[in-house]
Amino acid sequence: MSINETLTNELVELDKKHFIHPTSSIKEQQENGPAIIFKEGKGVYLTDIEGKKYIEGMASLWNVNVGYGRTELAEAAKEQLETLAFASSFATFSNEPAIRLATKVADMAPGDLNAVFFTSGGSESNDTSYKLVRHYWKIKGQPNKTKIISRERAYHGVAVGSTSATGIKDFHHMTTSLATGFVHTESFSPEALRKTIEAEGADTIAAFIAEPVQGAGGVNIPPDGYFQEIRKICDEYNILLIADEVITGFGRTGKMFACEHWGIVPDVMLLAKGISSGYIPLGAVVVRDHVHQDFINLSEGTLLHGFTYSGHPTACAVGLKNIEILERENLVQNSKEMGALLHEKLRAFQSETNIVGEVRFLGLIGALEIVKNQQTNERFSEKLAPQIITEARKRGLILRTVTFGDSDTIVFAPPLVINEEEVNELVSILKAAILEVQQAAL
Ligand code: PLP
Repeated sequence: MSINETLTNELVELDKKHFIHPTSSIKEQQENGPAIIFKEGKGVYLTDIEGKKYIEGMASLWNVNVGYGRTELAEAAKEQLETLAFASSFATFSNEPAIRLATKVADMAPGDLNAVFFTSGGSESNDTSYKLVRHYWKIKGQPNKTKIISRERAYHGVAVGSTSATGIKDFHHMTTSLATGFVHTESFSPEALRKTIEAEGADTIAAFIAEPVQGAGGVNIPPDGYFQEIRKICDEYNILLIADEVITGFGRTGKMFACEHWGIVPDVMLLAKGISSGYIPLGAVVVRDHVHQDFINLSEGTLLHGFTYSGHPTACAVGLKNIEILERENLVQNSKEMGALLHEKLRAFQSETNIVGEVRFLGLIGALEIVKNQQTNERFSEKLAPQIITEARKRGLILRTVTFGDSDTIVFAPPLVINEEEVNELVSILKAAILEVQQAAL
């Protein structure tokens, strides 16, 4: 047995015995061991412990926007760890990286989204926002405005609040820990939102939350005009609008923030993932001036909400450097251009294969539908997307599927540094995988 095989066997056994994986089948882990044990990354590529190289077509979890192996980010972390690894932000203590990052995010964010509360990730950003919007109405003398309306197929995370806001039913079915006060409405219908508000009563609703582009729900891109209409409805009924830009923020859709596509400014914007490109856990809740001013003018006593790691100096130093790279290398523009190229090449699969239906992209986030009949959109009874990504993985490409409900979908979110040659490589591997599965299926 080679040294590599001995190491792999050891790690597989230890993984099965001691590592409970997030969002994974525990049975599959016990039967087959971990799917891949990664060792290193560079640009859009990851390598496993046996030396096999993969294109990471999902930037891991839609988050490694600046790509892997950035020594600049390691240096920023090292410098901060050596100077001031951690300090509290409670009780108005502060530190320079947190102040500078809050200022930078405020500068970049649309409109007057100018005040920032730091978290360590997207679920924390979500749960924080639900508490903050309820606090907002409470101090404004409307304590009954507590409900959060979210959408079917939405994904907002896995804390108790964010699980409850999530609209993908499978996340509700595995647990009984759902919170009260969450109401779901149809995804892309302003009329459905209006009806839900009327049915619940606007004076019971604190906020409406939406992902500008639904990610885990299958990369669903809103029709033109939808968000402008939603903004109007929220204003009309005196309801705060929360945009969950955890995936879409920091260039993913070809704009710095996806809300910019429609020229709308939410009252609260949620960030994570791309804010640090996953190099360190970090998230943020950004609020508009009017919300911040009401907090300043009306709050009494202490804002009793704070994570130990809110405003973590090392996380913020890495976040700052990450944003510097995004800007310096024009990665938002690259996201737009390479997204358009990838879209065009994948759309060609509609004529080059017999099982590819709709392909949709906005910047470097996209989806490709697998269909049995390209004219009628009829689906296969047994889903093929999982088989296709297994074939792609064998050939060195990592992708992810969305298969709940009747979805048979492959989704894409490569690092924003991807270039034309890498787009071509991704496309040719995926095409071979689709043709292989198609041959067996038709
Ligand atoms: N919101 C959205 C839109 C997400 O896609 C995610 C994670 O994928 C979350 C929130 C939760 O973020 P985290 O996994 O960092 O808690």
